[in-house]
Amino acid sequence: MAPEKKYVVEHMEDGISPWVLLEYLAISHDVGGGAKFYLTSLMPSLKMSLPPQLVDPEVATTTSTDVIDLPGVRELAGHGRVCLLDPGATKDLAPQDAQVFDWFVFGGILGDHPPRDRTGELRKYGFEGRRLGPKQMTTDTAIRVVKMVVEDQIPLDKIEYVDFPELRWNKHESTEMPFRYVKDGQTGEPIMPEGMRELIRQDSNRGFDEFV
Ligand code: SAM
Repeated sequence: MAPEKKYVVEHMEDGISPWVLLEYLAISHDVGGGAKFYLTSLMPSLKMSLPPQLVDPEVATTTSTDVIDLPGVRELAGHGRVCLLDPGATKDLAPQDAQVFDWFVFGGILGDHPPRDRTGELRKYGFEGRRLGPKQMTTDTAIRVVKMVVEDQIPLDKIEYVDFPELRWNKHESTEMPFRYVKDGQTGEPIMPEGMRELIRQDSNRGFDEFV
């Protein structure tokens, strides 16, 4: 039997914003239990401020946990079978990559528009890179898509997406999210972490150019 896939998010922000927290909780929920989600390079002070679902497997009930922090992704350098999900990679991820990789590394980075290529900081570890198509995804979306490709064996171009959705608040106000999301097969809406719409709505009155 093929080894279980592991998802590693290298936290690359200074603090931990509510946006990032909601994404990490969504990832923890999506990836499921069994030590498959690794949140790396968290400063000890940040770790202390995480909700229990992200640190203590005994406490979680509805969200699965098994979030283990490693010192950082550098620990995986030279391990082999590690894929960096890299918007700058020349090759797109394919279902056959399930035979090639067991570890999938992502930047724990706020999406920005236009993208600043901070994922590039992870290239120095020499991991093989794969792209998830040309459009920027939020970190939780990127993990959702990788799982669909390598675990469910769905090719990238067979996944249904919602690109740059406009979230409408009322007749006059809306917010466009400059990212690609997976489409919810039942509602047709972009899949976002629980609580994210409310957060975006709260922020929609402030100007922002750095997001999620
Ligand atoms: N603007 C960003 C940057 O500076 O690189 C992209 C950050 S994105 C919000 C967070 C992470 O999701 C990336 O570090 C990458 O691992 C993954 N990701 C998002 N979209 C991707 C894509 N189209 N191809 C490959 N990886 C992607």
